[in-house]
Formats: sequence, structure tokens, C-alpha cells
Amino acid sequence: MGETQATSLNEKLRSLPSVDDVLAGHALTSMTQSLPHSMVLDAARASIEAARNALISGENIRVNAGILAEQARNSLEQTLAPSLRRVINATGVIVHTNLGRSSLAEQACQAVLEAAKSYSTLEYDVQNMQRGSRHAHCEKLICALTGAEAAIAVNNNAAAVMMVLSEFAAGHEAVVSRGELVEIGGSFRVPDIMELSNAKMVEVGTTNKTHVFDYERAVTDNTAMLLKVHTSNYRLVGFTESVTSSELHDIARGINDTRIQAGNHYELLVYEDLGSGALIDIDCNGESPEPTVASAIAQGCDLVSFSGDKLLGGPQAGIIVGSKKLIDRLKKHPLARALRLDKMTLAALEATLRIYLDPDKARQEIPTLRMLSAPADEVKKTADKLADLLKSDVADSIADITVVPEISRAGGGALPMYDIDSFAVRIDFKTGNAQECSEYLIRQNDVPVVGRIKQDSLLFDTRTIVQESELGEIAAAVNNYFTQAVQK
Ligand SMILES: *Cc1c(COP(=O)(O)O)cnc(C)c1O
Repeated sequence: MGETQATSLNEKLRSLPSVDDVLAGHALTSMTQSLPHSMVLDAARASIEAARNALISGENIRVNAGILAEQARNSLEQTLAPSLRRVINATGVIVHTNLGRSSLAEQACQAVLEAAKSYSTLEYDVQNMQRGSRHAHCEKLICALTGAEAAIAVNNNAAAVMMVLSEFAAGHEAVVSRGELVEIGGSFRVPDIMELSNAKMVEVGTTNKTHVFDYERAVTDNTAMLLKVHTSNYRLVGFTESVTSSELHDIARGINDTRIQAGNHYELLVYEDLGSGALIDIDCNGESPEPTVASAIAQGCDLVSFSGDKLLGGPQAGIIVGSKKLIDRLKKHPLARALRLDKMTLAALEATLRIYLDPDKARQEIPTLRMLSAPADEVKKTADKLADLLKSDVADSIADITVVPEISRAGGGALPMYDIDSFAVRIDFKTGNAQECSEYLIRQNDVPVVGRIKQDSLLFDTRTIVQESELGEIAAAVNNYFTQAVQK
């Protein structure tokens, strides 16, 4: 570094404003009035520090108290902005885990609001005017909808699996097919959960094929459970074979008979982690490719667990169903307290389950089900509306806007191979580009709009639009993008 350069850097660093000067800056006046002093002070210091580092690294920036005050205000505004915000999902992935999985039915939202605002019967039995159980609210509905004798709902399905294994298989063997030792995502891996719950995992079969005799050979006097795991986001296709729940039930019944004859009353249980947990047949393109909870119970599973916010379309929860004898043990498990649901989630779950009493109503009123079963031509109508809105704002010389056939996905690990015929609005750019536009819509728009980039186009799949007003919001945001792109 030459002497004059060094001198001029020193001069520049010396000319950095003091913290007091920055705090006195016009941009920070309202902040100093409404926020804790230390918070504004830290922001002012950080903006000076950032400017110092920029100067040292040779950046040619203009620095004065006013500019730094403005930067401090911007950073404070970012800190203060709500972090958990509404998003418009135009990806076509229905149970989008990163975007909050299921949006709730109107009735469920109302129930959450009531429970949040007032006192409630959370643990109060009105009939007997005494302490009640929070487990009581959803149990009857879950039983009615699944054919199970009893039920308990906990924080999520990962918690449900953990609780079932630690109550019924800790210190014992649990037999599971090698084809089902899956990782679901978000660090849920079947072998890890087994280890955490102290169950001894006994793997049987091969990756692609597991037979009835594999289970039969693996069972010892110390085996507590035959575990079946829905492979969810993963499919085995080709030369494959797996054992059904009803076959597992038959194996267990044979072994339990033998044990009883030998005076051993330790029961071998069949437990299925069903993952998504469809309560009714889900109609995709006229097929229903996902097993229901009722069918798993009917096949003879002693216990079944599933998520509340995947195909069920409710709040985050894990639901375990089975016989009263087994569920009662879970209700007394120490983890039941640690993993229990709060009143708002219980309210949402109860309201969602109630809608299922009329399956047609459920398909209409539960957004996840409605999106899954909406016919493609209905999705196309929404796409046409969005395209019209966009075309009225965006000139042909700026972008081509068309409606194109697309494929939506169930998401949330459900139906991974299942193509759901859909439609999307496609933008082909003559000004700007898809990458830049997508970044603008996500980062700069108050309500982030998440679409999908395909080659050089940006797609908005309208199957996952929650309400029609979102179409106008997307159009306005895209229009804003083009307005600033043209000015560049
Ligand atoms: C999704 C899933 C889980 C985890 O459920 P969460 O409700 O997300 O905790 C566990 N097992 C299977 C098979 C799943 O698909």
C-alpha cells in the first residue's frame, strides 16, 4: 500500500462519525423513541463497524452520520419485522413441509382463535364439574373415524413413534424390514429413533424383498414388536416384496398363541408407522393410492401412528390409535406430558376431525384435501384467471404469459411417485429473468410468492393457491418486479 493511500485510508477512518452522531441521525429519531436504547445503540455501532470494514477492504463508499443512521434503521426494521409470515405457495407441492405443510380449514382457524382468546375446557370436565383430561377432546372423534378403540394425540408423528417404541419395545427386540429403514427428512431416521428409545432393532429381509418367513425366523422370546414403517418419500419398484400388516398380524397371533400355551403372557405387538395418515380415501386423478388409518386397523395392527398435518390436513400433531389397554399405557407414559399438545393445536385438531364426519364436506372444506382432489380443469380455470390478471399489467414486449399443463405433488413424503395433473401460469422473460424475478418475489415482496423455476421460465402452479385473493397479490408483485426491471 502506497503512503498516500495509507494516509487517505487513515483520514477516511478518522472521518467515520461517532456513535452519538449516528444516533442523532434523522433516520433513527422514531427508533430511539420507541425501542430500548441498547438496541438502537447496537445497531448504530454495527453500521459504523460495517463501514469501517468496508473502507479497510478498499471499498469506495460514501460515509456520513445520515447514511449510517439509515443503515442502522434498515437493520432494525429487518429485526422487528415478523419472521413467521404468510407465504403464497405457487409451487404445486401441496403438503410443503418448508411452507408449513397444511393450511387449516376455516372452522379449525376459528377454534384456534377461541381457544387462544378465552379460558377453555382444556382439562375440565363440564359434566362432572371436575378436573378432566386434555386427551378427551379428540379421542372419540379419532375412534369414530378410524375404527380404533382408543387414541392419544401428541406433538408430532416422530414423537408418537418415539413414545410407542419406548413404552412397548424398550429393552426388547423390535423386528423391522430392511426395506423400511427409511430416513423421512428433517433428521427422522428409523434406526436412530429405535436407538433413542432403547428398542433393540432386528433387521430382516433385504432392501428389496422381505418375506413372512424372515419375520418368523427373527422372533425370539424377547421380541416385543413387529414394526412396519410406511416408506413415505421413497418407493421400491421392480423386483420387490413386502409383508402386509394383515400378514404381520397373522404371524403375531400364531406366536402369541404359542407363548400363552407355554405360560408366557408377554404379547407380541404389530405397530405400523403410517406416516401420512389418510382418514378417508384420497382421490387423485380418480384413484386413491394411499392406505387409510381405518384399513391399517382393520388389517389387525395393534397400534398405528400418523401425522396430523400431512394428508389429514390439520395442525402439527402425531396421533396414535389402538386398543384401550395399550393407549392407556401411553397416556401414563412420562413422555406423554413432555410431548402433549397445547390448547390451540387441540382446538384445531378437534375442529378438523369433526369435518371428517362427512367425507364429502372434508374434501371440500379441508384445504389439503381440496387441493389434492381438485380436478385439473378447475385448476386451469384459476390459472386462466391469474394469466388474465398478469396480461393486463405486463406488455407482450416484456414477457410471454401462457397457461401450461403441469404436474403437482402431494409433498410431505406422501405419494412421491404420484403425478397429479395440474396447470400453471408460465412467464417467459424478455425483460429480466426467472431467477431474478423469483428472488424479487420471495425477498422483496411483503408476502413472499414462491413459484417454481423450470429452464428459463417461472411457473405458478395454481393448485396450491389457498384463496382467490392471492391471484391479485401474485399479479401485483410480478408487475412490481417488471416495473423496476424496466427502469434498470
Ligand atoms: C412424516 C413421517 C414421520 C414424521 O412425522 P412428523 O409428523 O413430521 O413428525 C414419521 N414416519 C413416517 C413414515 C413419516 O412419513
